[in-house]
Amino acid sequence: MAASNSQAKAASERIPILAQAHVSDRAKKTLDLVENFVEQECIPSDLVYFSQLGEGPARWSTYPSVVDDLKAKAKKLGLWNMFLPKNHFKEGAGFSNLEYGLMAECLGKSRVASEAVNCAAPDTGNMEVIAKYGNEAQKKEWLGPLLDGSIRSAFLMTEPDIASSDATNIQLTMKKQGDHWILNGSKWWSSGAGDPRCKIYLVMGKSSPSNSNVYRQQSVMLVPANTPGIKIERMLSVYGYDDAPHGHGHITFTNVRVPDSAMVLGEGRGFEIIQGRLGPGRIHHAMRSIGAAEKALDFMLSRINDPKKKPFGKQLNEHGVILEWVAKSRLEIDAARLIVLNAAMKIDAGDAKGALLEIAEAKVMVPRVALDVIDRAVQAFGAMGVCQDTPLANMWANIRTLRIADGPDEVHLQQMGRNENKRGKAVIAKIQWQKQEGERLLKQYGVSAKSRL
Ligand SMILES: Cc1cc2nc3c(=O)[nH]c(=O)nc-3n(C[C@H](O)[C@H](O)[C@H](O)COP(=O)(O)OP(=O)(O)OC[C@H]3O[C@@H](n4cnc5c(N)ncnc54)[C@H](O)[C@@H]3O)c2cc1C
Repeated sequence: MAASNSQAKAASERIPILAQAHVSDRAKKTLDLVENFVEQECIPSDLVYFSQLGEGPARWSTYPSVVDDLKAKAKKLGLWNMFLPKNHFKEGAGFSNLEYGLMAECLGKSRVASEAVNCAAPDTGNMEVIAKYGNEAQKKEWLGPLLDGSIRSAFLMTEPDIASSDATNIQLTMKKQGDHWILNGSKWWSSGAGDPRCKIYLVMGKSSPSNSNVYRQQSVMLVPANTPGIKIERMLSVYGYDDAPHGHGHITFTNVRVPDSAMVLGEGRGFEIIQGRLGPGRIHHAMRSIGAAEKALDFMLSRINDPKKKPFGKQLNEHGVILEWVAKSRLEIDAARLIVLNAAMKIDAGDAKGALLEIAEAKVMVPRVALDVIDRAVQAFGAMGVCQDTPLANMWANIRTLRIADGPDEVHLQQMGRNENKRGKAVIAKIQWQKQEGERLLKQYGVSAKSRL
């Protein structure tokens, strides 16, 4: 018997009221298809996925075949490339950021779901870069196979010897030699580089160190993963998980020679590209994290209602504090979802640049909420919560990294604080004026001030 959906209502009926009018009927239909595909096909296949992972060297030279079966099913259902927003790209499935955001929440509940519908990071951001900034030849060579799901990709910006949250520090050198560029340096946290299907790296390096504008010294180039001189030195772990076969590579570049035609958008345009890349991607991560938080809450409910587990003679749901965890989790997830959907709608109404504050709010808030919810679920499971017998521990490790990846929280908070603080002088003037006006009114009414509330 197929598992019934744990939610009483379909996903399209659970869209927050604020967003409902902005979601088309086609998107609602697709959203319900995505939810069913994730709940009925992908989540059960997660078990197979982890069992099919190779051991030893095969861990990085093979990938679980169940993914290909799911991709074939997803394509048949028309669930493919939903992430490319309709107002900017003709290549995608024609949904808005808001509509895809709702779908991404469903995808966040399963390890394989995003890849199964060709909406997995970092390919999504990389496809957006090539679609937005690539020329026709670059699109033909790389975007076509990526959109088709026949290859995968990685984005190489972060370096081991510098503080990479400030991309002006990037050191990998790109030196012009005739009609080629020679790349030397080292990158790490290159997510996806471990996958045998990863064929193309988007590499950010310093191409123009003498440019007086520090934001015009970097370029992004499309570098085939098998170019001579590129070496994956090792794969990094995340709280002990290797995330195979995707993984996070530490890669060196030694005299790597790439032609002029590999340059994206133009020399010195790297900053522009990374800034354009990160907006919608942050919404995707945030909505997948909301999905993970919902899944953690489902797990918490399953445990606290398990009749076999009765500490001190009562089921967990009868212990007062536990229902408070459930209530807090519901409250926080629902509030966080609205923050993300608001950011998605703001991007849809203009572009990511016009929604910087809303994107930063979502980027900072959602992982914190998801981590709190997952942590409560772990606690409800006792020792079982920290081991491999539930998805909770792995989910916590994944989402914890979002407070660092794509720019640490502090960078976003500092920017938000700086912008908010710009109101400082105006606020002083307003409060000053209100005080003076109060004094004037006191006189007018012939009373003296009893308090300064
Ligand atoms: C799982 C995972 C996947 C990743 N995938 C990729 C990838 O695919 N491609 C890629 O290029 N990179 C990737 N990264 C790297 C990630 O983007 C960087 O780690 C991040 O930008 C921070 O850079 P850093 O590690 O050099 O830390 P640093 O820049 O050295 O920062 C260290 C700490 O300093 C503090 N800090 C920094 N700036 C400020 C500030 N302005 N105010 C106050 N405190 C501050 C923060 O607490 C920060 O965490 C990934 C990272 C992880 C963990």
